Amino acid sequence: MCLVRHTMQLNDIMKLSKSIEEIRSDFPILSTKAYGKPLVYLDNGATTQKPEQVIRVINELYRTTNANVHRGVHYLSDRVSERYEAARETVRAFINAQKKEEIIFTAGTTASINAVAFSFGERFVGKDDEIIISGMEHHANIVPWQMLCQRKSARLKVIPFSDDGILDLESFRGMLTGRTRIVAVAHASNVLGTVNPVREIVREAHSHGIPVLVDGAQAIQHGIVDVTDIGCDFYVFSGHKVYGPNGIGVLYGKEELLNEMPPYQGGGDMVASVTFEKTTYNDLPFRFEAGTTNFTGAIGMAAALDYLSALGRQAVAEREQALLARATAGLSSVGGLRIYGTAPDKVSVISFLIGGLHPYDTGMILDKMGIAVRTGTHCAQPLMERYGITGNIRASIAFYNTDEEIDALVSGVRKTVEMLA
Ligand code: PLP
Repeated sequence: MCLVRHTMQLNDIMKLSKSIEEIRSDFPILSTKAYGKPLVYLDNGATTQKPEQVIRVINELYRTTNANVHRGVHYLSDRVSERYEAARETVRAFINAQKKEEIIFTAGTTASINAVAFSFGERFVGKDDEIIISGMEHHANIVPWQMLCQRKSARLKVIPFSDDGILDLESFRGMLTGRTRIVAVAHASNVLGTVNPVREIVREAHSHGIPVLVDGAQAIQHGIVDVTDIGCDFYVFSGHKVYGPNGIGVLYGKEELLNEMPPYQGGGDMVASVTFEKTTYNDLPFRFEAGTTNFTGAIGMAAALDYLSALGRQAVAEREQALLARATAGLSSVGGLRIYGTAPDKVSVISFLIGGLHPYDTGMILDKMGIAVRTGTHCAQPLMERYGITGNIRASIAFYNTDEEIDALVSGVRKTVEMLA
């Protein structure tokens, strides 16, 4: 991933194509007042807000171009099918996949991982085989593999990580055996922010002939993701975390591998012919898109990707790095505050706990100041266990956040400490 680090000042960095005022006015929800105070939205890791450009496309689609995709010969069905396929091409170009057929629309990251765990698992995983994940995964990249291991009597192995949130690659290398069937790791941790060395992980796994799935749910929105450069076999992400609608996501898979995998779900559009005796399946990508897909979502997500591309993805990454540096410096100056995840290469996610204060209490007081952060385990209970905590507070920053909002978070945290201490 192409991210620029750490000590950069906002005015030194690559320019976005719009001013911050223009950007913020693209996102109507950012002018919300929470309890009469300006909303400071720092829960972008959970879901991102949507620009007018995305809202308008979805609205316009329902007004002018709604029909079932790939179903009819009529005018509207043709128009919407063209736009759906154009959205697929937008995704392909955005992640630099080689072929449009390698882009499968799903309901989101979770759905994509479940599809691979089921389909790849059916074809390639058997008794006593091994699957490797990391200790910093979201539940979405743990549970589907656990379920597969239960179905197949296979074994789950977990790459450990250091206190500062860096994967232990030495251990990883030692885990690769003749029985390893797949490696599945996060590109960026949703709690620690760590950007994992996915290219190196892929290179190592491939040297043993083992495919790799990369969970890009927390990476795609923060920088330039190039699946050809990474070399991974699968890359997955969600539309709602990249300024698009929810209920839509992507499964990128290498064509030759997808072609060897059985379909995950049966139904309309994924078939070539059906009789009661036998069904033959459609070609990629339709073989993995059973039923009426979320075509409105796909077209909306493509509008979000276009929005990011027009802003300048490198400039977005650099702005977020500068905001992260400001937040890290500010929060580090609060007495008794510990940041979880201090790797040198991070996306703009910052998790912390303050002394003996309960994260929910802190989160609730911040909320009353209009500051939206996430509290709890962030769907990463094993990670919390690794640190011996039951949860923490997470501020996750987007390019539309401002210096003033970061300062409001820091002073809000200070006030909370004063109130609760
Ligand atoms: N993986 C990571 C790293 C995440 O952060 C998330 C959501 O927070 C997911 C997977 C699941 O994404 P979704 O709920 O959109 O399927």
